[in-house]
Amino acid sequence: MKSKLRHLILVLGDQLNLDASALTGFDNQQDAVWMAEVDEESTYVVSAKQRTAVFLSAMRHFAIKLRNMKYEVHYSLIDADNNTGNLAGELEKTILLTRPKKLIITEPGDWRVLQSLRSVAQKHLLELEIRQDTYFFSTLNDFTLHTKARKQLRLEFFYRELRLKTGILMDGKNPIGTKWNFDADNRSSFGKQGPGILPLPKRFAPDQTTQEVILLIEDRFAHHPGTLDSFGWPVTREQALDSLHDFIAQRLPSFGLYQDAMWEGEVWLYHSHLASSLNLKLLSPQEVVAEAVNSFNNRLAPLEAVEGFIRQILGWREYVRGIYWMHMPQYVELNSNNVHLPLPHFYWTGQTNMACLRDAIQQTLAHGYAHHIQRLMVTGLYALLLGVSPKEVHQWYLGVYVDAVEWVELPNTLCMSQFADGGLMASKPYIASGKYIDRMSNHCKGCQFNPAEATGHNACPFTTLYWDYLNRHSDALAKNPRMLMQLKNLHRLSEDKKQLIAMQAHQHRSEITA
Ligand SMILES: Cc1cc2nc3c(=O)[nH]c(=O)nc-3n(C[C@H](O)[C@H](O)[C@H](O)COP(=O)(O)OP(=O)(O)OC[C@H]3O[C@@H](n4cnc5c(N)ncnc54)[C@H](O)[C@@H]3O)c2cc1C
Ligand code: SF4
Repeated sequence: MKSKLRHLILVLGDQLNLDASALTGFDNQQDAVWMAEVDEESTYVVSAKQRTAVFLSAMRHFAIKLRNMKYEVHYSLIDADNNTGNLAGELEKTILLTRPKKLIITEPGDWRVLQSLRSVAQKHLLELEIRQDTYFFSTLNDFTLHTKARKQLRLEFFYRELRLKTGILMDGKNPIGTKWNFDADNRSSFGKQGPGILPLPKRFAPDQTTQEVILLIEDRFAHHPGTLDSFGWPVTREQALDSLHDFIAQRLPSFGLYQDAMWEGEVWLYHSHLASSLNLKLLSPQEVVAEAVNSFNNRLAPLEAVEGFIRQILGWREYVRGIYWMHMPQYVELNSNNVHLPLPHFYWTGQTNMACLRDAIQQTLAHGYAHHIQRLMVTGLYALLLGVSPKEVHQWYLGVYVDAVEWVELPNTLCMSQFADGGLMASKPYIASGKYIDRMSNHCKGCQFNPAEATGHNACPFTTLYWDYLNRHSDALAKNPRMLMQLKNLHRLSEDKKQLIAMQAHQHRSEITA
């Protein structure tokens, strides 16, 4: 160990890239890296076992890589006797031990973590240099500039701006294929015949490091949700690249068409499963998008699929990051519908007789994964229609998914899914009745409820709660032109029917929260 350091480079669990800006200019002779495993990151919201395993295993693999490259790494193990349990405490210990002249970090993704590291730096009168995160297409400043001239923020405009700026899928100033957006072509279900033979998911057998992490989690976080039996997520850059290439070859061509489709028992479908690798920085969004564009250029994937995929990464991923940093810290408290029910207990067990929710939650607990429509239009939709406190919904999403980090999870949950910002991010609440789930999946076929019924013994709770939501919020929603069609259908219902729906919704809420 050096007697006195020049720079202590702080590397967080979601900053596992060798070309991170914080590591630029690293000098083995004068600098060292700090990394820390701490209980707080798995307990400040209860982190499911799969999620904790992805983070700890990926961090340990990254530290091994750095040490193999002769980097001095000060690494706190979560089960070390003197581990203080939080990032601030572990950083303080390393500062006192190494006496650095300066701390350097790449922009953290989490507001809470940034505040805590800043206060440690201040306490020790140390400069904390925060370097730009180059694993995004846009900077936070780009987003601020984008918002300046606008009354209303919408993904579409930011996405087009980034397409123009980067030239991705562009023919000069025009989008390739003459359309910016192929969403309308990307909403197929699998039909009655189902998805047929699906490509096998790319999974990785746990190596020794991962096995140690799994044992540790089974012991230390035994009571945390989920299981580790199926663990197979990429935890190194090499594995993440393998997953990327597999997705591009096997799934991308059908990604667009079946982006929104669901099928009982089918977890992986045509999605990429790359979000955890992207969020941990095992992959850069630039290389992921470049591979998708190559596939289109080589006529291996249709434009609809490639644009649909790129929109998620160049569009949504960049957009939600900007929204998060623009609105934190008060953002997490938003609750425009003023709803306060607790999250139903079955979100932690999957034990419910609503088939769609059961399938989405059980696979979430088994694998730490559900695709976007399951998150938005099954688990998220039900919580929104029921009237669950958005903060509780947020804590669940942040805890259960392997790709969950706050900067991307919070805007998706609070705003896209729960409409807790009253329309700041999405132009309307994503609400639908059980008929939408019936159209996009086969869940309803095996369910005791009927998606076409809003009242009565067999009524689908989604359908009951949907009409009830529209009815309860009709005055506020009437101001939104995009809701007019749905409200028109509501006004076709008789007053008696609306009253029956309100009573059934009330009864359902009482039963669920009893
Ligand atoms: C309530 C809710 C919570 C969510 N929480 C997270 C989260 O914690 N972390 C996370 O990365 N994504 C989150 N998402 C967005 C999206 O659902 C996941 O990125 C996606 O399901 C991950 O699976 P995949 O890698 O197979 O994605 P694919 O369907 O293959 O999509 C490709 C990539 O695009 C990006 N992407 C897709 N949709 C979004 C989106 N809406 N916002 C930002 N990036 C997107 C992801 O990086 C993803 O890997 C959430 C969505 C909802 C509705
Ligand atoms: S009937 Fe309703 S609860 Fe049952 S699977 Fe369909 S949407 Fe879900």
